[in-house]
Amino acid sequence: MNPMLQKSLPDPQAVLSVDSQELDSQENSKEDITNKQFGFLDSFAKKEIRRTLFKAVAIPGYQVPYSSREMPIARGFGTGGLQITLSLLGQDDVLKVIDQGSDESVNAVNIRNFISKTCPGVSLTKHTPEATIIQTRHRIPEFPLKLGQILVFQVPYPDPLVIVENSEAKRKQMHGEGDYARLWVKLYEDMVKFSEITISHRYPTRINGHYVIDPSPIPRFDVPKLHQVPGLHLFGAGREKKIYAVPPFTDAQPLTFDDVPFRVEDFNDADGNRRSCNRCGSTDSYLDEFLDEEGCRVYQCSDSDYCNSMLSK
Ligand SMILES: [Zn+2]
Repeated sequence: MNPMLQKSLPDPQAVLSVDSQELDSQENSKEDITNKQFGFLDSFAKKEIRRTLFKAVAIPGYQVPYSSREMPIARGFGTGGLQITLSLLGQDDVLKVIDQGSDESVNAVNIRNFISKTCPGVSLTKHTPEATIIQTRHRIPEFPLKLGQILVFQVPYPDPLVIVENSEAKRKQMHGEGDYARLWVKLYEDMVKFSEITISHRYPTRINGHYVIDPSPIPRFDVPKLHQVPGLHLFGAGREKKIYAVPPFTDAQPLTFDDVPFRVEDFNDADGNRRSCNRCGSTDSYLDEFLDEEGCRVYQCSDSDYCNSMLSK
């Protein structure tokens, strides 16, 4: 083993996955070796992803293809988001990882452990306002994003048109022409059948007045948080090999009809009163519903950091 490589890797476990590349890298320059160690991906992969991100930011909502790399986790477990995060992370960054709003669920803990092993020097936090990069699965944190903060989404299905058109070539043309008529028909059918649009997650959202995106399986409650906010939103679909973005201060309008306003989950009880978090008492956060030991319904903030912060006030 190259002694330089051995010295600077933090954990033997993390080396296992790069052992095969290591033989090839014996002849590489010191700079190349350093780039390979930090952030798991090699420098060429990171450059390609960063170039893709530039294009995604330049054309808000457009799905930019990229050559999604194999990662040491299965596709569908956040490889797209993880590749974006690893391409952006520097040693002065502060990272937060959440899964359904929680810092402690399995997906978040595993990704955080992987990043701490492959990105030595990066600080980890559970507090949203302290983070420079937040990787998320299916939620936008309750604390509003500030300028300079980046929210990276793990996306299973990037294209909202997939429910109405099988051919990717045709979908690309429809996106290019801003032709979302069949999506509107789908929403209208919902209205006819159920008297309201019933989509609860992955609500189609028009970005900057043109492209309609699938904002990943965030609840409707989170969709307005994409509109005209100072933070940068990056979406990575590893299996589908697509990256897209909602840049800061960009319009993000959920598709809806003029006479049917967009509605978010209200969490009202039978008397019309807004339910509060059972733990911190908050009445303005997104609530998870579960049953306690006696079978009673209990509501609690989905964002664990927000709940802890409200509790300590
Ligand atoms: Zn709470």
